Amino acid sequence: MAQNILQYLRRSNFPHIWCPGCGHGIILYAFLSAVEKLGLEKDKTVVVSGIGCSSRAPGYLDFNTLHTTHGRAIPFATGIKIANPELTVVIFTGDGDAAAIGGNHLIHAARRNIDLTVIILNNSIYGMTSGQYSPQTPTGAFGTTAPYGNVERPFDLCKLAEAAGATYVARGTAFHARLLPPLIEKAIQNKGFSVVEAISQCPVYYGRKNKIASPIDMLKLQRDTAVSVKQAQTMNSEQLAGKLVIGELYNSPAPEYTEEYQRVTSNG
Ligand code: SF4
Repeated sequence: MAQNILQYLRRSNFPHIWCPGCGHGIILYAFLSAVEKLGLEKDKTVVVSGIGCSSRAPGYLDFNTLHTTHGRAIPFATGIKIANPELTVVIFTGDGDAAAIGGNHLIHAARRNIDLTVIILNNSIYGMTSGQYSPQTPTGAFGTTAPYGNVERPFDLCKLAEAAGATYVARGTAFHARLLPPLIEKAIQNKGFSVVEAISQCPVYYGRKNKIASPIDMLKLQRDTAVSVKQAQTMNSEQLAGKLVIGELYNSPAPEYTEEYQRVTSNG
């Protein structure tokens, strides 16, 4: 690990709680690479999380950090951004935290286009609470609450974010580790609501329940399922079924909430 990345870690809180083979550390590293590249100041950066394995990330980071309640990271982050729009505010959340209990907060923050960056660590399951199926569990996959296979359909979180009004949307995976830092960098730079879906692996629950033998096999699955935005443009809907399109999916600036709020209140 690069020395300059280490400065952002709160090493007194190590060892971390993540299981061997978990993808979350790769995504945390990608975030810190983006922070380092952008030269963000620790005192002007806030990282907020909800509850879940991914939401433990802020505890290991030496920024202003807030570990909040399940699904509520976005409302806390919204309050912080409105109180001090100069701050860079980033949210770490999981697929259950962001798309189930926090789903409405996600779509309304997107609708407002408030300048927050949400990194959704999507491992397709509730890891921390022992493997219940989440809104991102694929149809037919197994979880502790889906012993016969999940009959529900997962969201496409990126399409959901775009439809709700997010102005920057991207997807990467733990396998494509080098793709994530520039995507996160652009998400932070976007003056508006940004969503980066980072596909992660939970070998302990998702892998075990779905008989995927090892973290390496889970990473290979990410590799084999992903297609780039460029490749996707040459594929039809049948060929794209079951594939994950990775890269920058949407980037279209629009008026930002705190600036608009400031403008109308200063005119009043
Ligand atoms: Fe990672 Fe799964 Fe372990 Fe949670 S339970 S730390 S998601 S491997």
